[in-house]
Amino acid sequence: MKAIDIITQAEADSRTARDAIGALVYHNQCKVLDAFKKHRIEPRHFAATNGYGYGDLGRDTLDELFATVFGAQKALVRPQLVSGTHALSVCLFALARPGKAILSITGDPYDTLLDTIGTENEAEYVFSLKKLGATFISLPLLADGNIDIDGMTDILHQRDDINLVYLQRSRGYAWRPAILNTQIKVACAALKALRPDVPVMLDNCYGEFTETQEPIQAGVDIISGSLIKNPGGGLAPTGGYIAGTEKLINTVQYRMTAPGIGAEVGSWQGGYQPFYQGLFMAPHVVGESLKGAILAARAFELMGYATMPSFDAPRADIVQAIEFGKKEPLLAFCKEIQSASPVDSHLTPEPWAMPGYQHEVIMAAGAFVQGSSIELSADAPIKPPFIGYLQGGLTYEHCKYAITKVIEALG
Ligand SMILES: *Cc1c(COP(=O)(O)O)cnc(C)c1O
Repeated sequence: MKAIDIITQAEADSRTARDAIGALVYHNQCKVLDAFKKHRIEPRHFAATNGYGYGDLGRDTLDELFATVFGAQKALVRPQLVSGTHALSVCLFALARPGKAILSITGDPYDTLLDTIGTENEAEYVFSLKKLGATFISLPLLADGNIDIDGMTDILHQRDDINLVYLQRSRGYAWRPAILNTQIKVACAALKALRPDVPVMLDNCYGEFTETQEPIQAGVDIISGSLIKNPGGGLAPTGGYIAGTEKLINTVQYRMTAPGIGAEVGSWQGGYQPFYQGLFMAPHVVGESLKGAILAARAFELMGYATMPSFDAPRADIVQAIEFGKKEPLLAFCKEIQSASPVDSHLTPEPWAMPGYQHEVIMAAGAFVQGSSIELSADAPIKPPFIGYLQGGLTYEHCKYAITKVIEALG
């Protein structure tokens, strides 16, 4: 089949699945607009501030806006949280305790968090959760991608030192489905029946606005993510967020800055407009990414590649995984995504030992915001079976253009 025929066929096959995204986007757009109305957002909220930022109305209102959208009691939304990893690490260090254990019920966490947890051969000067004396237990998902509820209850019966349960909603660099809110709800209910005192933390990176509800509404106590992914809508220039119960956020704020200071400091000379406007755009932009991922899944399926999820499966993240089986097509895939980007299209991505990752990683992105992966991007750890991860796309048309170029290159 010629590239144009594959794309035409993939678009026809995926029409119903892409149409369903429209309803999701509308639901989430209403939710976001209702929150803007509730908090009476005005131009003065966008103002630049500097110094300590005492009484920074734009910052404080943005916190409240995110809390409302995510169904949380409180939130911290900060350009000073430099990335998703930073925001998640702040939460983990705030909630971990010496002699206690964190139980992950979605297997190993995302690669960049392994150094936070602590590794065998970490440098002496690194202070990880491990050196704090906090254990991290990783309970893998079941073969069908479900959470091992029985395994979780067994561990909770066996040990009384668990003081935090941890989930990761998105697939990360794993060949597994994203965790749906329905699954999160079952896991939270099972945990709370046994140990109502143990809070649940969730890595929400790539998950925001992919379902009609957010994980806090499914029973999670605290979530965290990056503003240069879904909730920044492609406009936020940097930052991270944390949202959750008042009690947990009150604790976390003192790890984010310093005890006694908490959330009351922090300014932003650039002004807050891109953060507000980004949140306003986020449901639509996430929808464009999801439609792009669905098209990609169908197109690669038609070419004979295995995909995760398949084009018509439920989604709870914006990531599309494609198994290439060999190194060359994976590299060609990344090269074409780069070449189809609006920025840096003339560059060729190369695998490199990126800080925080366990294998060599190749990253293709030509983004307006450096490293933004709500903009169309592709990446992959260089290891068999050579799975490529595609995510983002501010417009469906950009996704379609890029996928067409990949298909042409793979011939
Ligand atoms: C991207 C990502 C992170 C880390 O976020 P950065 O902003 O890249 O530091 C953590 N967890 C998941 C699931 C992610 O997708």
